[in-house]
Amino acid sequence: MEINVELFKKSSDPGDCLLKDTAACAAMNNPGCPACELGKAGAETQKNALEDFELLKTLLPEEGIKPLMQSETCLFCKSEKSNPREYYAITDFAHREPQRTKTSVIGIKIKANVGSLIPVQIACCKKCRRNFLMRDYLPWIITAAITIALIAVLSIVPLRESLVAVNELLPLALFAGVFVVGYFAGQLARNVFVKAKKSQTLFEVAELPTIKRMLEKGWFSLFGEKKGIRLIFSKKRLERGWFSGDSVEA
Ligand SMILES: [Zn+2]
Repeated sequence: MEINVELFKKSSDPGDCLLKDTAACAAMNNPGCPACELGKAGAETQKNALEDFELLKTLLPEEGIKPLMQSETCLFCKSEKSNPREYYAITDFAHREPQRTKTSVIGIKIKANVGSLIPVQIACCKKCRRNFLMRDYLPWIITAAITIALIAVLSIVPLRESLVAVNELLPLALFAGVFVVGYFAGQLARNVFVKAKKSQTLFEVAELPTIKRMLEKGWFSLFGEKKGIRLIFSKKRLERGWFSGDSVEA
């Protein structure tokens, strides 16, 4: 089948996109008109994006969030000389503004808790990334290891049979018990690990000055506060999203 090039050009014609050549478009790190959905999304959506941009500028700290990703050195390193940036630690922050309504499951319009959502990318080194990942996964590694060890033990038939002989549910109860013990052992190991590594890595993302100012301005993390903000790590920056690229002055 032959593709109608002319038709394609017309359908993605950005000519009347309200965002064309605006700071808002650059701030969203849009992929260029031919690949951008917003060009085809209609004037209403484009107008909303322009309004969101004006609001976001007032909601974010003066320095913006770009310095967090543009730093050549890790922002989590606590040593005097920070390691070079090798990864981006990425997480989403949300804000209640602008007030939006959403339709609840029973069809009533209610205020949405999240009006804005932006990705934050923070320069991170190899060592700090490893420390964060260990903090997050150590409890599960330990729980899984203990549970697997129990499964191995219970697979010994004579042992399992003698347990069942006492009570049918005994292997299951043992399994549940060991899982709970494993979970608490994992939490303990996590705390010990964080204590041991806290001289290397700033685990409290909220203590980074820019993040602190964001929290003061009403931003909040969608991915855990109590046990530390959950981060994902990437060698590359995000290809899209508010303030995720360099080409922005705002
Ligand atoms: Zn580091």
